[in-house]
Amino acid sequence: MAFNIAIDGPAGAGKSTIAKMLAKKMKYIYVDTGAMYRAMALYFLKNNISPDDEVRISDAVKQVDISIEYVDGAQQVLLNGENVTGELRNEAVGNMASATSVYPIVRKKLVALQQKLAKTADVIMDGRDIGTCVLPDAQVKIYLTASVQTRAKRRYDELSEKGESADLAMIAKDIEERDYRDMNREISPLKQAEDAILIDSSEMTIEEVVAAIESIVKEHK
Ligand code: C5P
Repeated sequence: MAFNIAIDGPAGAGKSTIAKMLAKKMKYIYVDTGAMYRAMALYFLKNNISPDDEVRISDAVKQVDISIEYVDGAQQVLLNGENVTGELRNEAVGNMASATSVYPIVRKKLVALQQKLAKTADVIMDGRDIGTCVLPDAQVKIYLTASVQTRAKRRYDELSEKGESADLAMIAKDIEERDYRDMNREISPLKQAEDAILIDSSEMTIEEVVAAIESIVKEHK
């Protein structure tokens, strides 16, 4: 049986950085489910579909095919056959993903793809509902979080490093709004699964978080 590790938590907690490092070390496949919601969101943006227009969203979902490939271990997301990986990591796409991931039709399609991937391979999957909905039987479940201030500062540093201008207060406000939406939506809200282990990374380095999860995995093997 495939060994599945679920990592959930709010935006900016460090899930993808940590999951990527763990996957490399453990030779597991990393599945970034946020990228799938982002690819779907990109389609809505490209087709000028408003996040409030549930009828057009429902129609559009039927036209969208999302699939995943791996190149040198890195996840690539294909939207109707086109590799859109490079277009997914920006605030506009992230906000659209957050606003449209509330729709059952969007979630149903992507959850099915995620469950299929986890059945056949050892995966580390990160997202919001992995431990609670997508992989309720995952052998290890982690809920990774950090304070809003810490997460905003990390995002700010990331943008500054890329030479992009950023406003710390605005980033913090964006993070708070995204948290609120993700935690209060009707379907599959972000919450810690009952059997998930909580890690607050506010005062931890990346290496410390990776080591903590590795030792949890060892206990469950
Ligand atoms: O993790 P990332 O920031 O890439 O996710 C973008 C958005 O997609 C999140 O804010 C969330 O609304 C949605 N999402 C979700 N369920 C997941 C992963 C992401 O609803 N498993």
